[in-house]
Parts: sequence; C-alpha cells; structure tokens
Amino acid sequence: MRVHMKYETVIGLEVHVQLNTRSKAFCGDATDFGASPNSQVSPISLAHPGTLPRMNTRQIDSAIKLGLALGSQFPEEIRFDRKNYFYTDLPKGYQITQDAKPICQGGSLPIRLKEGYRDIRIHHVHMEEDAGKSIHDQKEAHSLVDLNRAGVPLLEIVTEPDLRSGAEVDAFMTAVRQLVRYLDISDGHMEQGSLRCDVNVSVRLKGESVYGERCEIKNLNSMKFARQAIKHEFKRQTELLENGQKVSSQTRQFHPENGTTSPLRSKEDAPDYRYFPEPDMPPVPLEMEKIKSLAKEAGTLPWEYYNTFHDTYGLSAEAARILSETKETADHFLRLVQQSENKQKQIAKTGSNILIQHILPRFPLLEGFPLKPAQTAQFCQILVAKIIPTRAAIDVLLPAWIKAPESDPEQLIAELRLNKQTDTDELRRALTAIVQAHPKEKAIYKGGKRNLLGFFMGQALRKVGKHHDPGEVRKLLVELLEA
Ligand code: ADP
Ligand code: MG
Repeated sequence: MRVHMKYETVIGLEVHVQLNTRSKAFCGDATDFGASPNSQVSPISLAHPGTLPRMNTRQIDSAIKLGLALGSQFPEEIRFDRKNYFYTDLPKGYQITQDAKPICQGGSLPIRLKEGYRDIRIHHVHMEEDAGKSIHDQKEAHSLVDLNRAGVPLLEIVTEPDLRSGAEVDAFMTAVRQLVRYLDISDGHMEQGSLRCDVNVSVRLKGESVYGERCEIKNLNSMKFARQAIKHEFKRQTELLENGQKVSSQTRQFHPENGTTSPLRSKEDAPDYRYFPEPDMPPVPLEMEKIKSLAKEAGTLPWEYYNTFHDTYGLSAEAARILSETKETADHFLRLVQQSENKQKQIAKTGSNILIQHILPRFPLLEGFPLKPAQTAQFCQILVAKIIPTRAAIDVLLPAWIKAPESDPEQLIAELRLNKQTDTDELRRALTAIVQAHPKEKAIYKGGKRNLLGFFMGQALRKVGKHHDPGEVRKLLVELLEA
C-alpha cells in the first residue's frame, strides 16, 4: 500500500474571530480597520498605572449569540484571566483572556461536505483581546509596531480534533464565516485578518483509535496557506513515522514563499504564561434572562434555511446552497415563497430559477436589488400563471420593473404591450402580413414541404418573438398557412 494511503490526517482548529464592535474589549478606543497607525490607542489600552479595564457588553452578547447557535453550555459567571508574556506588540505585558471558565462550552458546528452536512464538535469558545501588529520587513534596522489592534475583542473557537483534511478545514472556515455574518458579530474577512486560525495537525494509521503527536501551525491567514501547511505536515510526519522516527510535539511556523513549515519551539519549551484571575475585573454573574433574551432575538441559522429550501421546497442542493449563502438572499427567498398561499413548491422552483439565473448575476448577494420579496413573488406568479410569455416577462418586464420599482406590474404590462390576450389580433395581423408577403413559399408549403414552417417561424419570431410565446406563434402560423 502506498504510504499516503495508510495514514489519515487529524486536525483541530483554534479560530480567532475579530468582533465588529465599535470599541475595544476593555475600553472605548475605536476599532476601525485601516486607521493611521497608533491613532486608536488610549492609556487604558496600554494598561497604564491607575487605569482600569471594563467589560464590553457587546463582546459578551456576541459570544452568547455564537454559543446559542452552536448549542453550547454557558457558565454561571463571566470570568477573565491574565496570560502573561513579553512581546513588543503587547505593551501591557499580559493579555486579558479566559482560561479556566470560557464563556461557551461544548456544542457543534455543521459543515457542508460533498456527501452532506457533518457536525464538528466544539471544545469551547472563549473571549480575549488581540495584540498589536509588528511589522518587521519595512526598515532594515528597526521593527515597527502598530497598537491600533491591541485590545480589539476576539472570540477564539477551539474545535475537537474532528477534521480530517484541508478540504474539511476549508468547509469549517467557510461555515464560521457564514455564521458570524448571519449573526452580525464579525465581518468575517479573512484577508483583513478578521478570521485567522492556528491549525493542529497529527497523523495516525487508518483504523487506529488513539491520536498521534501533534504540531501546531500558527496564524494562517488564508485558506490556501492552511491547506498547504496541512499537506506539508502530512508529508513530513508520515515520512518520520515511516523511517521509524517519532513526531515531536511542536509549535511551527508556515512559510508562504515555499509552502513549508519549520519549528518555532517544542512543547516542552512552551512559555509558562502564569495565568491568574484578572484582578481588575472580578467575576460577574451571567444572567439567565440575558441568555433568554438573546435566544429570542436569534434569527434562522444558515443550515436551517438550507434544510427548509432543500427538504421542504424541494430545491437542488446547489440551489439551496446559493440561496442560503447570506441572510439577505435567504430571507428574500423565504419571504417570496411565503407570500404565496398555494403552489408554494412551484413558486419556490420558479423563484429560485429567477433569483439564481437572472437576478443574482446582476445583483450579487442582492446588494442594491430594489424589488421587495412581495414583488419578486408577484413576478413569479405572473410567470407561473403564464399571464405574459416567459421571455417577455424576463427580458422586458423584469428590467423595466427594476428600473421603476414603485410601478404596478399590471400597468407596466399594459404600457409595454406585453399582454398576449389584448395582442392576439395584432399577432394575427402581423403573421398574415408575413404569409401574404411570401405567396411562393406558402404554395410550396401547401404542396407538402412542411419544413418551410421553419422559414415562416424565423420571420415571425424576429418580428414578434419578444411579445409572444413561440408555441402560440406556431399554432397561428400553421392555421394561416393551411387556410
Ligand atoms: P493546548 O492547550 O496545548 O493548546 P488543547 O488540548 O487545548 O491543547 O488543544 C488545542 C487544539 O489542538 C484543539 O483544537 C484540539 O482539537 C487540537 N488537538 C488536540 N490533540 C490533537 C491531535 N492529536 N491531533 C490534532 N489536533 C489535536
Ligand atoms: Mg491552545
């Protein structure tokens, strides 16, 4: 058996989610992305003597919202701890975090794989603050430090080692990004550092029940890098084992330039952070009432929408995925279907086609799309009831309505002369003119060359195709040619 077939990869993640609160975790400093360096740093951010941190209720609410979505347990008290270490981007000399009693314990997040959803167990979620940013490569002799990010609120999601490949890590990060955006607790931008992950990787023989020794790869800020790091670790660790050596537990860094990792430190040399309870923020009770009220506010979750679209409305997996991508598209589609009392499945099918094929390509994520769900629903009903020809509806009515969203569709149909009932006489006149203009062809047709109908259809559709159903045109043409 080939080496890589014998082993499996085991992966656990520590994902940092930067929250979208306006102010920092323990003081009122702003958190805007891209502000000029060191412009959002007050003495409290730096823990100068005499300053005191205070809790940011939005950080706590965000953590609880996430915990509710994951099905986590909550502790009775909120506690913070100090994690002590020295680094230039940490001027306080410690980070405020949660060590012993994280705000969310347990739970799971469904990730979407080719074969369907799978639950990834969550070990816990804790609150902490970010450090500043060191910039090492701009000046030869100096490093630069920007402390704007120091104190920005983070949630760290720690998974159980339930992931088995780079593709599954990708699916997990995608699910986290989608969920935090649904909950409106983070912008989820990986490129801007709002989502970062440390990847723990070990390998073991397939069928083995105990885990192997793991390595932790720090701070991967893109999915491409995470996948490269996992691939490299799999190769490195399986080679060690095949050569009769051991994998030693290490913290490693990733090198984007060649896709490899190298050791930062071994676990035995791990710094002793001397955690202790944050003395400036004594524990506060976590009120049941607060949790209950946040639970009441909680909206529908991405996988709940997906299941409704797929199972109840019968959409394909792909259509259900596209429409549940963001809260905006999912809400729009759901309300569109709920507008209709009957033929819901048919409206759902039509609505999903119209949104996916004709609306989303023009208005990605529905941004700037001016029609309300009730109007999109009305449009679908026009299609389903065949009030005007499909092509006229999509090519003429829809763009006109988008341009003038206040308009009444009935009136637009009349103004644009799209209504086939009122236009049947006109159609008959137009077709009669075409037939009369080609007496020779008509004679040949009548003589038995039925395929000349194609010639007449071509002429007719060029003239009236926008406004009339091809089926109807054909029927009338045949009638006129046989006459
Ligand atoms: P530490 O306290 O050293 O960071 P944890 O037990 O908290 O260690 O684990 C941190 C992360 O490592 C978690 O995401 C967990 O799932 C993952 N992990 C633990 N053991 C393994 C293993 N053998 N292989 C891969 N990942 C692992
Ligand atoms: Mg850890």
